[in-house]
Amino acid sequence: MLGKKVIIVGAGPGGLSSGMILAQKGFDVHIYEKKDIVGGRNGFIQAGEYKFDIGPTFFLMKDVLERIFKLCQRNLNDYVEIVELDPMYRLVFNDKTFIPTANKDKMIQEIERVFPGSSKGYEKYIEREKKKYDRLIPCLEVPYGKVTDYLSTRLLKALPFLDAHLSLFDVLGKYFSDDVLKICFTFQAKYIGMSPWEAPGLFSILSFIEHGGGVFHIHGGLNELSKALAKVVNECNGKIHLSKCVKKLIIENSICKGVIFEDGTEDRADYVIINADFAQAMKDLVEPQKRKKYTNKKLENMKYSCSTFMLYLGLDKKFEDLNHHNIFFANDYKHNVSEIVSNSIIPEDPSFYVHNPSLIDDSLAPEGKSSVYVLVPIGNTSGGIDWTANKEAFKEKLLDLLESKAGIKDIRNHIEEIRIITPDDWQNKMDIYRGATFNLGHNMGQLLYFRPHNEFEEFKNCYLVGGGTHPGSGLPTIYESGRISSEIILKKEGIDLYS
Ligand SMILES: Cc1cc2nc3c(=O)[nH]c(=O)nc-3n(C[C@H](O)[C@H](O)[C@H](O)COP(=O)(O)OP(=O)(O)OC[C@H]3O[C@@H](n4cnc5c(N)ncnc54)[C@H](O)[C@@H]3O)c2cc1C
Repeated sequence: MLGKKVIIVGAGPGGLSSGMILAQKGFDVHIYEKKDIVGGRNGFIQAGEYKFDIGPTFFLMKDVLERIFKLCQRNLNDYVEIVELDPMYRLVFNDKTFIPTANKDKMIQEIERVFPGSSKGYEKYIEREKKKYDRLIPCLEVPYGKVTDYLSTRLLKALPFLDAHLSLFDVLGKYFSDDVLKICFTFQAKYIGMSPWEAPGLFSILSFIEHGGGVFHIHGGLNELSKALAKVVNECNGKIHLSKCVKKLIIENSICKGVIFEDGTEDRADYVIINADFAQAMKDLVEPQKRKKYTNKKLENMKYSCSTFMLYLGLDKKFEDLNHHNIFFANDYKHNVSEIVSNSIIPEDPSFYVHNPSLIDDSLAPEGKSSVYVLVPIGNTSGGIDWTANKEAFKEKLLDLLESKAGIKDIRNHIEEIRIITPDDWQNKMDIYRGATFNLGHNMGQLLYFRPHNEFEEFKNCYLVGGGTHPGSGLPTIYESGRISSEIILKKEGIDLYS
């Protein structure tokens, strides 16, 4: 044992990835988690005999987590069963259905089937976006603690590919003329809770991550990833304390010394890592007078992602006509996106995503039945929608849409279990500021150096991991935040992460 202690607030993917690395390197790691299970938004809901992922269902860039397991002298495949999805998903529009695959030859055929004459643009997309990806990813793998980090050779080399002056939708205009086809390569902006018409052009790498690297499912659901990370923490003698809520950070002379729990007891450590949602943690865990940069006013003025309305349905039959991932677009998608980002409108005609993992995974529902998860991107709580008043009606609207658009006939007669999470629930029950499920917005003013730093600029000995710090929201980037913050701590102790 190294004799150095680390406290981590929260056992979400960020807290667990930093916890496993530091425990493996000999730190005395203590993860304090408010809930009675690990995983945070990447946890699970058990409803009777049905199991659902709470949040993430798309496992992308699996090499990132594989590398982190390797750093801990482990093989990810020994912990979870990974299944590649081919096709990746089904995209359903008013007048057409498009079924993308990461297999290039099959994808060319699929584009020609639905968008005749457009496959040349796809080949151009693959060629340029691969270059962009290869240049950009190394820039995301390092911390941005100083403004001069923008002058690194790495970032300068990536500059011509950043497309910083263009929106994501505009970038796709370089490859395709059909607006619907552009949507098929830009709807991924929703993964970071943004609009394709507003998200910076660099985020065209999001669809390339899928087309270039594939989309994966984990047997038992993606929540099994969090369980796997927690298992490694335990194997490396780290301690995960469940149902243990941190009430305040101990800050003395701008140095973070430890945490105080709800029962008034405290624990002190050499390093404190915050995985709890960034803005909520600032508001809840640190008195306003102790924050110089992230004042309440600053937090209120920052940009936040959209939220989601969730429906988890235990249904007493299988749905062979649905794919594993299905996205049903509003008839006027651009209008729907503008409603979402307004934060104040409940859409009349919402776009929605349906996850039907029971098609290939029999561990989530009893035999012959299905765990179906429905996600509707919707405004965060800043717009003041009253979800207590609107929840039931919106649920009924979704059930109607599942019948009319997703083909689940007579759905109400097949429901055995139902759970709902509204934007208010994300905020009040899951401790997510404004219920912004994908965290701080990913506009240029809140990226890299301008995102809260991994080595937190407010307090010494304090580090951030999770979607609210660099590199950003989404499982691979969150795992990376854990690696980046751990690497900074290891360097301070003179330890090489890679040795
Ligand atoms: C609906 C939804 C769908 C998503 N889909 C995908 C997807 O398909 N693919 C993808 O890559 N990403 C997806 N994401 C985004 C992202 O990957 C997840 O949200 C991820 O789980 C966030 O991880 P995190 O480490 O930042 O924080 P969290 O998962 O929020 O973990 C933070 C933890 O801190 C705990 N905590 C908070 N306050 C305290 C306290 N005071 N004391 C102790 N513990 C505390 C919380 O209980 C929680 O366990 C999705 C997110 C959502 C919400």
